[in-house]
Amino acid sequence: MTANTRPTERVPTAVPDDETPAAWCPHCARPFATERLCALHLGDRHRDEWTANQRDRYESAYDDESNELFIFHLKVISALVGVFFAFTYTYAFVWS
Ligand SMILES: [Zn+2]
Repeated sequence: MTANTRPTERVPTAVPDDETPAAWCPHCARPFATERLCALHLGDRHRDEWTANQRDRYESAYDDESNELFIFHLKVISALVGVFFAFTYTYAFVWS
């Protein structure tokens, strides 16, 4: 698949007049709200064109996002376990 056929490459973007993007993609000029999102975009869409500095920023951003995702998964599992025990104890002590 070439870069021109990727669906997200053709998504039109617009920046409101009162906002300034934190970063622009140096390859496709797409605006981003944060530097980290731009670094992740470079690793996802422009891996063949990036520089060593861009690769380092991508790896750092990817690690940060992976850590945040892991913490989010722990929170979701904790909530599910809490709901499970709440229903189990409610069933055991109220309806039995
Ligand atoms: Zn781009």
